Amino acid sequence: MGCTAAQVAAALKAAAVVVAEHRAELIDLDRAIGDADHGENLNRGFAAIVAALDAASPETPGAVLKLAATTLISKVGGAAGPLYGTAFLRAATKLGDRSEMDVGALVEVLEAALGGVQARGKAVEGDATMVDALVPAVAAAQAAASTGADVAAVLTAAADAADKGAESTVDLVARKGRASYLGERAIGHLDPGARSAALLLRAFADAAT
Ligand code: ADP
Ligand code: MG
Repeated sequence: MGCTAAQVAAALKAAAVVVAEHRAELIDLDRAIGDADHGENLNRGFAAIVAALDAASPETPGAVLKLAATTLISKVGGAAGPLYGTAFLRAATKLGDRSEMDVGALVEVLEAALGGVQARGKAVEGDATMVDALVPAVAAAQAAASTGADVAAVLTAAADAADKGAESTVDLVARKGRASYLGERAIGHLDPGARSAALLLRAFADAAT
């Protein structure tokens, strides 16, 4: 048994609540090493996703993720909008028109999302971006799935790893995005996109639990 479209939509709505709760925190993180818009960007995007889902009620998990993707791409500027938009779009394409997302499909979705972020932004682990949260998250999801974990446990493992990966950006010099203009001065700061990626995965995990 896997996740239905309604469950995936509910997870995105739960993520929208979490993003709204952490809007100020993400703004503060981005103020320190960027331009202070990450929390606002993401909050606007996820609020728009909720409105779009309410208006359209897509019938498959892939259609839900595709609507999220197109909404993020059209409503969120900056680096994060296109990056998260591409992640959701690749995830949606991976699911195609299947009616449910089981554990195997979930792992493929997470791999595809990371692949989308990296294809679009060219960041690798250690560049102090959302990739530093997503790479360990995908690895943890693969490991959990291989031991027979269910969707909630796979997402929880991914979220735990993303938290640690995001924390690792504190000690890094940023090599991509606005923070890269700061050089060594970015050391000591948590990357806002890594933090938001970890928050999204935690919201999805909590929604599945
Ligand atoms: P902007 O930097 O345009 O103001 P946001 O503030 O919304 O956009 O998002 C900033 C976040 O985007 C960064 O914290 C980082 O995690 C992520 N980011 C920026 N550039 C890249 C990239 N090339 N690859 C992956 N992530 C990136
Ligand atoms: Mg910014």
